[in-house]
Amino acid sequence: MLYQLKFLSVFLLLSLSLNAWSTNQHPDVEDVCQKVGSKLASVSIKECLSNRYFSPRYYSVNGKAILETHFPANEDNPDAPRILFIGGIHGDEYSSVSVTFKWLNTLRKHHSGAFDWHFLPVLNPDGLLQRRSSRVNANKVDLNRNFIPAPEFPEPLEHWQKSAKKRLRYYPGHAPLSEPESRVIHELIDDYKPTVIVSVHAPHGILDFDGGIQPPRKLGPLHLRQLGTYPGSLGNYGWFVKNIPVVTIELPYAGIMPKKHDIDRMWTDLVRWLKYKAKRKPSAVASANGESGNVVK
Ligand SMILES: [Zn+2]
Repeated sequence: MLYQLKFLSVFLLLSLSLNAWSTNQHPDVEDVCQKVGSKLASVSIKECLSNRYFSPRYYSVNGKAILETHFPANEDNPDAPRILFIGGIHGDEYSSVSVTFKWLNTLRKHHSGAFDWHFLPVLNPDGLLQRRSSRVNANKVDLNRNFIPAPEFPEPLEHWQKSAKKRLRYYPGHAPLSEPESRVIHELIDDYKPTVIVSVHAPHGILDFDGGIQPPRKLGPLHLRQLGTYPGSLGNYGWFVKNIPVVTIELPYAGIMPKKHDIDRMWTDLVRWLKYKAKRKPSAVASANGESGNVVK
């Protein structure tokens, strides 16, 4: 009996500590999840905290943690395509953050290990987590115009100053990569070497694509409509500067969630397209393995 009691107490202690370990997140991560869950009707605090995040490596202008969560490929599949997935680069596009969390729920249940996923579900926490959310970050910069433009494109600031649509919400910042949030993407492109970048926006209700491979024709209800790129945008930088295809998902409404059925179809179509079209370049595989490879451009 005594032995059984001892066994039971050890078991209880062990399960308690395991529980604490599995829900324990860095306080800065918890803070962001609390605020995201309070701000967005479609994402609960618990749901946000269900993902296991990195101890924060990056912070926004106002010192909020940039959430990062990772789903590794199977160990026997070192050449698996790497997908860098970004939600909420624009802080007032609520659905782009909420839908990204729904896809994270799917991935937690069904991650097969065929791909390596790196998710930043809330890239612009300062824009989102304020009373009136804004497209821009805390320095009033449109992060999706704050990247390095391709050589044949004009400087983003010059372009904005000349543009008839010169509006504050598209302000690209005084120089490319002036903002910590866009530098996160810049650093991850160099360190993580993604095969494909996926970025979620709203409210244009289409699918946009920059890249040299065949784009997806549609993702669920969203049909391909290539809009062309703006200097300083992620699509321009990712493909024309870094040679990485960029899938831009434009959900139909910023403040209304797509139907569950459509959220699932978009995900299934994306994964199917990745399966057939996303291949790591031999150069990326070689350099990630510590060898020097010739960059194929
Ligand atoms: Zn947007």
